[in-house]
Amino acid sequence: MSNQTDVDSVAVRLREQLGERVSASPEDRGEHAHDVSYHTHQPPDLVVWPETDEEVSFVVRTCVDARVPMIPFGTGTAVEGGVIATHGGVTLDLRRMNDVLRVDPLNRDATVQAGVTRFQLNDHVAEHGLYFPVDPGADASLGGMAATRASGASAVGYGTMRENVLGLKAVMPDGSVVETGTRARKSSAGYDLTRLLVGSEGTLGVITEVTLRLTRKPRCTSAAVCAFDSIDATVAAAFDVLDTGVRVTRLELLDEVMIEAANQYSRLENDVTPTLFLEFHGSETAVAESSRLAEELAGRHGGRGFRWATEQADRDRLWRARYDCYFACLAIRDVPAAYGTDVCVPISNLAEAVVTAKRWADELPFPAPVFGHVGDGNFHVICVVDPNAPVELAAARAFGDRLVDLALRLDGTCTGEHGIGLGKRDALAREAGPALDVMRTIKRALDPYGLMNPGKVLRGGDD
Ligand SMILES: Cc1cc2nc3c(=O)[nH]c(=O)nc-3n(C[C@H](O)[C@H](O)[C@H](O)COP(=O)(O)OP(=O)(O)OC[C@H]3O[C@@H](n4cnc5c(N)ncnc54)[C@H](O)[C@@H]3O)c2cc1C
Repeated sequence: MSNQTDVDSVAVRLREQLGERVSASPEDRGEHAHDVSYHTHQPPDLVVWPETDEEVSFVVRTCVDARVPMIPFGTGTAVEGGVIATHGGVTLDLRRMNDVLRVDPLNRDATVQAGVTRFQLNDHVAEHGLYFPVDPGADASLGGMAATRASGASAVGYGTMRENVLGLKAVMPDGSVVETGTRARKSSAGYDLTRLLVGSEGTLGVITEVTLRLTRKPRCTSAAVCAFDSIDATVAAAFDVLDTGVRVTRLELLDEVMIEAANQYSRLENDVTPTLFLEFHGSETAVAESSRLAEELAGRHGGRGFRWATEQADRDRLWRARYDCYFACLAIRDVPAAYGTDVCVPISNLAEAVVTAKRWADELPFPAPVFGHVGDGNFHVICVVDPNAPVELAAARAFGDRLVDLALRLDGTCTGEHGIGLGKRDALAREAGPALDVMRTIKRALDPYGLMNPGKVLRGGDD
């Protein structure tokens, strides 16, 4: 926990350099006390809005001198409590570092400051016929997306932040500014520090710039939906689509509980039954052929009502239920947050994982819709618990633990895309085994005082 005298001295020093961009107001602290998760809100002592690498470095050095914790903050849309100030300290809000620094249409890459959001980048590069394909649903910052190794629906077609970050600039826990990676498409040069920082959730440094791969907008996109009689048949059809080599760019599953919730939330009339949502990119001929093949494969598993479209408005209508999943879940009980799971397994084990999870979810004493990026073997069960009923949260946690153990048994991971944050630290320990000690060694070497987003990813001595 940060000591009030240390925080006061830090506040004085920071104000000398950053002036009004240092705040201890209850409103600013409250706004930075949480992400969108169910975890208990805890405010930092101070919030700062740096505008340059030098200012970030100054904040970090000042905090290290006074042994005060630091928490990087992107847009606060993450779901595992990564920005919560469990140890107090100084939150660095990166939103004022929001310049697109460079776009190279020929090499299809761009360098942005960490606070640039993905919608902002996509608007910026649209004139070149390019876009950034990683889509975590929310308009998150690219620094936050790198820090959580985010992905989303399009990862089956274009990869995650792991594949799409070419390099980074970061302020390390000692205040030094380093650049990792280059713009080359491949490199064998030494330890891969880019991939060490991607997914480090603010525990190894503050990312200030991200160099990203861009993708050419497809000539044509087709979106499709298909309903099934059972979850088993839905997963089997998804597996066949992947196995046959159809170039699918999104492949999403919603169970009947999720479809019902989406119907209510968005006033839709989808059949209340497990449903696959598909998307294909390519030439007009290619997407037509992919859609036709997917329909045939779905038909072998009893898929019915297969519909597909290429016009944007028609595609949006078909996919509406998928777009609104998260908010539709919250609306089931009008709650501000829910407990979500995020396991990911090899595709060949997906059927066992989803079918078992679905059986367990149906036994829970609260609604628990299932949806996910099944094209990657990643899916979520959203436990819509009553925030005033601790017994429900305990049941959700027990369910989440059970699901993690199942995923690990099936050679998978406790989190496909949301990260560890506060909520999955014990799950990471089970998943990593002895490798957890290697992670601790790296953390200690880079951040000997344990000041960089303490208590996240790895448990500290006091929690
Ligand atoms: C409706 C909805 C749908 C979502 N769907 C998906 C999905 O499909 N896939 C997916 O992956 N995620 C999804 N998310 C979660 C979220 O959008 C991602 O985790 C996103 O990457 C968080 O980015 P952020 O800028 O909001 O980060 P924040 O929430 O601000 O921070 C997240 C973590 O990153 C650290 N961090 C932030 N910025 C930096 C930085 N510059 N340097 C170092 N550390 C930093 C923070 O300390 C924290 O630990 C969804 C969220 C919502 C609300």
